[in-house]
Amino acid sequence: MTVVTRFAPSPTGYLHIGGARTALFNYLFARHHGGKFLLRIEDTDRARSTQQAVDAILDSLTWLQLDWDGEPVYQFARAPRHAEAAHSLLEKGLAYRCYCSPEELAAMREEARAAGRPAGYNGYWRDRDPSEAPAGVDPVIRLKMPREGETTIDDLVQGPVTVANAQLDDMVLLRADGTPTYMLSVVVDDHDMGITHVIRGDDHLTNAFRQAALYRALGWDIPQFAHIPLINGPDGKKLSKRHGAVGAETYREDGFLPEAMCNYLTRLGWGHGDDEIFSRQQAIEWFDLAGVGRSAARFDTAKLTALNAHYIREADPARLVDEVVSRLEASGLPVDETGRARLAAGMEGLRERARTLVDLADAAAFYVRSLPLELDEKARKILDGEGAEVLRQLCPDLEAAPDFSRDALEALVRTFAEKNSMKLGQVAQPIRAALSGSSVSPPVFDVMEVLGRNETLDRIRGVL
Ligand code: GLU
Repeated sequence: MTVVTRFAPSPTGYLHIGGARTALFNYLFARHHGGKFLLRIEDTDRARSTQQAVDAILDSLTWLQLDWDGEPVYQFARAPRHAEAAHSLLEKGLAYRCYCSPEELAAMREEARAAGRPAGYNGYWRDRDPSEAPAGVDPVIRLKMPREGETTIDDLVQGPVTVANAQLDDMVLLRADGTPTYMLSVVVDDHDMGITHVIRGDDHLTNAFRQAALYRALGWDIPQFAHIPLINGPDGKKLSKRHGAVGAETYREDGFLPEAMCNYLTRLGWGHGDDEIFSRQQAIEWFDLAGVGRSAARFDTAKLTALNAHYIREADPARLVDEVVSRLEASGLPVDETGRARLAAGMEGLRERARTLVDLADAAAFYVRSLPLELDEKARKILDGEGAEVLRQLCPDLEAAPDFSRDALEALVRTFAEKNSMKLGQVAQPIRAALSGSSVSPPVFDVMEVLGRNETLDRIRGVL
C-alpha cells in the first residue's frame, strides 16, 4: 500500500503553528514511507474563506519547504460530487430527508436536556413516510447512523477509542440549500484522493466516529486515523495570541529560519530518543507515528530561539547576506556593492551572537551605514571621556600599519596599549564605538579588517 496523507486547512486566516505542525507530520510520514503528501483547501465556508488566506497558507508551506504532491484540491469546487454521494445514500435507504424546522429542533434539544438524554436529533423523520412531508419546506439529508452497539477507532496515536453509537445522532449530510456539510465533504474528498492516513489535531477525534459510519454507509475503506494532541502555550493553556505570535508568517518576519521552525515543530509532540537537533533528512528517516506522544505539547519560544541561533550559525553565509540585505533595504537602508562585500566578509563575526535574522540585520547595519555614523548613548559616553584622546593618538599608528589584517591589527593595538600603560579594552572600546556607533559589535579587529584602512580611519576621524 502506498501511503497517502493530506493537509486540509480551512483558509480563514494565516497558517498557525498547530496547522504547520500538522502539515509537517503529514509530510514527514508520507516521505518516510515513500508515499504522497497532498494538500486540500477546505474552502466551503464561503463567508470566511478568502483568497488572501489561501495565498498566505501556500506561502507559509512553501517557506517551510513542505512541498505537497500535485495541485491543491479545492473542496468547494467538489460540492456537486459531495451532493451526489449523499443522494446515492438516499437511494439506498441509508440516508433520509428531514423536514424539521429550526423551532422543532430547538424543542427537541430542550426535551432531551430535560430528560437527561444526549441533545442530538431524535430521528423524527428517520422512518416517517415521505408523504407526510410539509409543503414548501426544503429538507436536509441525514445519515442513518447505527443505533445499537459501539464504534471503535484504532487511532494510531490515541490507541483504541470507543463510543456508544447511541451517542451519535443522525448527522446532516446536505443542508436544505443543497450544500454539503464538513462531515460529508471531508469523507468524500479523503476517499476520492485515496488518503490512507488522516493525521490531524485531536480536536477532530469525535468527528472520526461519525466519519467512520459514513465510510461504512458508502461502502468505502476507512483510512487510518492519527489524532495528534494540540499545542499549548508555556502555561499549559491552549496556544493563542496571548502567548505571542501564533502565525507561521509572523515567525518568518521575526527572523526565524524555516529549518529551525521545522526542527522545533517536529520535536513538539514527537521524539526520537534525546535528539534535539536534526536535519530534514534525519527527520524523514526517523519519523513515525509511534513516536508521537499523547499529551499536549508546550510551545516554548526560548527553545525555538535557541535552535534558531544554532541554525543561523550553521547556515550558508551567502544566504544570510541575502537575508540581511533584504531586511536592511526593507527598513530603508540601501545596500551597495561595498556594503554587500562587507556583510559577506563580516558574517562570521556577526552571526555568532544573533538569535534571529532581525538581530543579525540590526547588528550588521553599521557596516552599510553612510558617514557620519550616528552614535548611541553608550558609544557617545565612551568617546566623550578619554576615548577620543586615545583614538587621536592611535591614528598615526593605524595610518602607518604595514598590514591591516585582524591579527596584525590586534598586535598593533596591544603594543599601543602597553606603551601607554592602558588595558586593551581602553583602546578597543573607543575603536568599537567609532566604527560601529555602539558599544557592542563583532570582535573589533575583525571589524577593522572588514572595513579596511580608509574606512576605519574615516570613521575614527569622523568622531574626533
Ligand atoms: N479543515 C479542517 C481544519 O482546518 C481539517 C479537517 C480534517 O483534517 O479532517 O480544522
